Amino acid sequence: MKAISYYSTNLKAPEVSFRDALLKGQAPDRGLYMPDHIPVLDDETLKSFSDLPYHKVAYHVLEAFLNKEVPRDIIAALVEDAYDYPVPLERVDRRQYVMRLDQGPTASFKDFAARMMGRLMNHFLEKENRELLILTATSGDTGSAIANAFYGLDNIKVLILFPEKEVTNRQRKQMTTLGQNVSVIAIDGKFDDCQAMVKQAFADPDLDMLNLSSANSINIGRLLPQAVYYFYAWARLREQTDEKAVFVVPSGNFGDMMGGMIARRMGLPVKRMVIAVNENDEFPTFLHTGKYEKIEPSRNCISSAMNVGHPSNLSRLVALYGGVMDEKGTIHKMPDMADMQRDIAAVSVDDGETRQTIADAWNNYRLLLEPHGAVGWAGLQHYLEMIDEKERNELFVVLETAHPAKFPEQIRQILEFDPELPPSLIGLEDKEEKFDSLKHSYDAFKQYLVDHYMKHP
Ligand SMILES: *Cc1c(COP(=O)(O)O)cnc(C)c1O
Repeated sequence: MKAISYYSTNLKAPEVSFRDALLKGQAPDRGLYMPDHIPVLDDETLKSFSDLPYHKVAYHVLEAFLNKEVPRDIIAALVEDAYDYPVPLERVDRRQYVMRLDQGPTASFKDFAARMMGRLMNHFLEKENRELLILTATSGDTGSAIANAFYGLDNIKVLILFPEKEVTNRQRKQMTTLGQNVSVIAIDGKFDDCQAMVKQAFADPDLDMLNLSSANSINIGRLLPQAVYYFYAWARLREQTDEKAVFVVPSGNFGDMMGGMIARRMGLPVKRMVIAVNENDEFPTFLHTGKYEKIEPSRNCISSAMNVGHPSNLSRLVALYGGVMDEKGTIHKMPDMADMQRDIAAVSVDDGETRQTIADAWNNYRLLLEPHGAVGWAGLQHYLEMIDEKERNELFVVLETAHPAKFPEQIRQILEFDPELPPSLIGLEDKEEKFDSLKHSYDAFKQYLVDHYMKHP
């Protein structure tokens, strides 16, 4: 098979290798990288997945993309290291399941993508004897996800800036108790101040030597690992080898659902993808009418990680269906809407229904959901209404993207109890914290970078 190269969805930048796409993040024309063809797994390989642990399924899926650039034994070692936690599949009713993607170190499905991206970046840097310093500003969750994804890697250091008074105790502790290659600075300012300092550092030629990088969420290295759990769920739950599954994906920036779309093109038997969004319904409207309008500013819903008025990965979906959408959301060439409508259903779920779903799922099934997963479960109920009775006994998998204990206020309000902590959050209270403090001044920050990271000859 021909080696895969990666093109920009804006079509105005050269094609690159996986390594370059991974280390660059965004293409120079501001597009997103996409594989020029998608490798197809044969039936034997698909069949074999039913007996494999998660990391071995991940090996086969990622190897199909990486085999020309990363040696097989290294891919095997990286996935085994990244995926050392369980992926529970919970049966709820008939053949309706919830896949819990919340057992990683930050109790969110983003661990699946970020941990693999970190390990792949580290692999290339190690080989080239280079180091990278990842700078990130956070208002809470991004920082801990990045910190945990890169924690313990040899060729990557991480420095996180957070606004002193704007993160919760738990969020702060998830970053400040790690140590090793992860450093943290509390800024006496707001999130926007932290963000501005980081941006200024990226643009500062005096700091070129530091090899600064952002661990961008649109990186191709995050997208491909998100194809894996669809294969895993199907392999564990299928009754016939060619049985097709319907996946329901609570979606914001559409990275998660793109993973599923890629899995489908790789040969996974997917009947339909159901995209469940909150009140930010720009995609359902687009799918039904062909007209795309961003929602600015995005609407605030309790499924806060999905408050996205223009999903950045949408340009990848459009590309998959033969169209061109730029980073601003302007469509230069329409995708094949009829094909897209056949493969995808999209539903919008408002906050009232999200809350009601958390209550109903618990009362009817003892199924504990947090707001994002509840949007997914509600999306399944809508979809079941849209199809024939006989199709309702088929295989359905709803993705739960975060652990309920990350949203204790909502759960307490609706269900009147406190969810139990996941393993990754237990004991956090007693761990020792370490961080520095700075005023929100770029000069002070620059001096800090020079003192701590510049190698003096
Ligand atoms: C990021 C996130 C989502 C949305 O995922 P996308 O890939 O951006 O669509 C859903 N749920 C949770 C908990 C998240 O953190």
